Amino acid sequence: MSAASFADRLVTWYDEHGRHDLPWQRDRNAYRVWVSEIMLQQTRVATVIPYFDRFTTRFPGVTDLATAEVDAVLGLWSGLGYYGRARHLHQAARILVARHGGVFPTDLEAWCALPGVGRSTAAAVLALAMEIRHPILDGNVKRVLTRHQAIAGWPQDPSVLHPLWALAEACTPHQRVAAYTQAIMDVGATVCTRTRPACVRCPVGHDCRAYALGRVADFPTPRPKRVLPIREIRLVMLVDSTGAVLLERRPSSGVWGGCGVFLSVPQITIQRSGLPCTMV
Ligand code: SF4
Repeated sequence: MSAASFADRLVTWYDEHGRHDLPWQRDRNAYRVWVSEIMLQQTRVATVIPYFDRFTTRFPGVTDLATAEVDAVLGLWSGLGYYGRARHLHQAARILVARHGGVFPTDLEAWCALPGVGRSTAAAVLALAMEIRHPILDGNVKRVLTRHQAIAGWPQDPSVLHPLWALAEACTPHQRVAAYTQAIMDVGATVCTRTRPACVRCPVGHDCRAYALGRVADFPTPRPKRVLPIREIRLVMLVDSTGAVLLERRPSSGVWGGCGVFLSVPQITIQRSGLPCTMV
């Protein structure tokens, strides 16, 4: 594969067909791109947009986020799921203010040292917000690259992942890195989709190996099946006489959880001083 032509074709496609008006592309800066990248982990763009708008209106900059109470941050995240992301974002904002004076670092290692920031997220922020060249390898990019080069094997397996990073590095151009990064993300999200990819209008379709072989559905190789253990539990939920449910704050993930008690015996008695409880 000609790396230059691969990148050129993606950038040319992006100029005409890519997404240019996402909220984090307006007033683009490292803070907005970082927040969007964290929200977009395991979450679709359409779902993220209203959350992103509310979040960045309430916390327009890293200092606003760093000085906020965690409850306010979690409140704005409520409904988006994967609440560990919000906690990490908040912790990282405090680190950025405390250690970097609220100035965003320009090196990959400093970004990767922040809670919740992996190599691909760090690279995306640097490339999209600062035009600093680093390859990204999120789920969309893995799908495009494994199909384009017909790379077999589960992409999370180190024997596949390391060559994939090398390929991502080789494909990343030295000019217009932000446009290229957005382009390959957009192609993965809108053309080379998980099901029913639109190969006939793909900008890199003419030398796509999976397409030529008629084996697009074979890539990327799915995760090997694991036999999941079956676990039986009994759960007690505490409800007071008004119907209110007793909840406790989750220590590191989630927002609230039932104040449940996992039991290994079939019957128990629960008493809380002054609070009549029923088992449901
Ligand atoms: S030709 Fe099809 S399978 Fe290949 S990269 Fe393009 S959309 Fe994906």
